[in-house]
Amino acid sequence: MIQALPSPAAVLDRNCEQRSDSGFLDQVQGSPNHRIVLFRGGRALVSGAGLAYLDPAAAAGHLPAGAVTVYLGRVLPGSQPSLPDGTDLVLKVLADDAGDLPWVPEGTSFSGYRDVGDSLRTADAAIFIEAQAVANWHLSHRFCPRCGAATAPEHSGWMRRCSADASEHFPRTDPAAIVAIVGADDRILLASNFAWESNRYSTVAGFIEAGESAEQGAVREIAEEVGVHLHTTRYEGSQAWPFPRSLMLGFVAYTDDAVAVPDGTEVREARWFSRSDLQAAVLKGEAVISRRLSIARALIEHWYGGTILEPGDALDHEPPARPDSGSGRGPAEAAASGKAPAGGPA
Ligand SMILES: [Zn+2]
Repeated sequence: MIQALPSPAAVLDRNCEQRSDSGFLDQVQGSPNHRIVLFRGGRALVSGAGLAYLDPAAAAGHLPAGAVTVYLGRVLPGSQPSLPDGTDLVLKVLADDAGDLPWVPEGTSFSGYRDVGDSLRTADAAIFIEAQAVANWHLSHRFCPRCGAATAPEHSGWMRRCSADASEHFPRTDPAAIVAIVGADDRILLASNFAWESNRYSTVAGFIEAGESAEQGAVREIAEEVGVHLHTTRYEGSQAWPFPRSLMLGFVAYTDDAVAVPDGTEVREARWFSRSDLQAAVLKGEAVISRRLSIARALIEHWYGGTILEPGDALDHEPPARPDSGSGRGPAEAAASGKAPAGGPA
């Protein structure tokens, strides 16, 4: 099966075998060639379009002994242009109340991913996401879920062991389904959430429950949130979204229902868009869709068949390709004939 969403190659070799050896982290930190990624209060130390990769000599003597330390990995050849291939990266997670750090380099600042993610180089964004995910886990799993005793990191920060019963605990990820819903007439159904500004529309997402397959979760969540029944789901790719610990599983899914019914608690409005409706609404500012680089945007643009232009984009841009015919990839596309759905929303 061809998956449609881009899945960039890994930036770091996580060295999963070696990192569980005791002494591996000390060995890495004993080398002057490793670099440090700093986290505090859910924010990473950032410099321009990248993370601030600190020279251990500059950080020496400044890092508190209690900082959680995690081996992030070794830069794979050609994957991270701002660092030499083979550089080992070590994450230091400082306490939220670590206070001012006057020793960090000028021009750097602690920034949240939502604030700077769009402007980061792709490789830096990937490292930020890994660091965020593992930092979140350490901060929320200090105690054993079996007995409540304190846990302590091992395996270079990729496992925590209970001090009382020796049980082992690993970073957790919560799977969520995120779905581009396509109707029988090939329009897309996007939802506006009560938590957003009223003209923002996106794909519909929800957590997969215990004992449920991803496809079952997608069908259930879509029925709950926008009241349409999906007859076909097609997995397209995934994106780690560690806020705090989600893995977004992207689907394009198809329904024969023409009337959407927002749940009224989470979803305020569900609206069908044709390709030309959506592009026009975005250019007029009548609709704001998910930002570029998000899996929601990738799913929407996968359905659209090209780049959706934003009001700020250059006007001499080539019009996006529109595969209104002949892509033959899904039942709705095959069935698309341009007719309006009976009883569909305006
Ligand atoms: Zn325990």
